[in-house]
Amino acid sequence: MKKLKKLNLNQLATEMHEIGEVDQSNYVGGSVFFDPSGNYLGTSGLGDDIQIISADEFIHNQTYGLSSSGVAISSSSSGTQWAVVNHYLSGSGSSGSGFLMNNVQIASPTIDAEAGFTTDGDFYIKSGSYVLDNESDLINTLAHEENHYINNFDGSATGEINAINAQIAHASYSTTSSYYKGEVADYLYDQWERQGIANDPGYTLADARTHCGL
Ligand SMILES: [Zn+2]
Repeated sequence: MKKLKKLNLNQLATEMHEIGEVDQSNYVGGSVFFDPSGNYLGTSGLGDDIQIISADEFIHNQTYGLSSSGVAISSSSSGTQWAVVNHYLSGSGSSGSGFLMNNVQIASPTIDAEAGFTTDGDFYIKSGSYVLDNESDLINTLAHEENHYINNFDGSATGEINAINAQIAHASYSTTSSYYKGEVADYLYDQWERQGIANDPGYTLADARTHCGL
């Protein structure tokens, strides 16, 4: 018969910590970790951000019940950013099996848009874009751009409003950051300005924010 082992206090503390971490992860999701080659490692601690860490360090921390702390993806190399965005393009898509876009490029950090398409139709995301740092913000940005991809890159005000409505309808929207939702609301209001209806009844900035869940 197997003899039951008594845990000493240190072992008990480690066990308890691990249970706490699992519960936290189920509740808030946890920070998402990738290695520098873009391989998904797992989640740890609190937060919704995407961080880069070596696989050895992450596994060590998991083994000993420690929280991991890596580098924000926006501060990592463009090669790492490219690999992580590719990970999300191949999963979490509107079809469930991946977004329809491919050929992602990491664009210059000085361009205006956070994401868009090159004249060749390649999807790009700005190097170091703030949308990279929050997992839901990134997935939701892909949902917006995928709508443009499906609709022949329609960048008219109507095309943008369609893309905004598609991203709000995507499962990732509810967990995007408040900052991100505010940017989406501002962008919706910009489209109403393009259409000449901004500030008409139902088309104020406050209406845009309500529409965007704020
Ligand atoms: Zn757009």
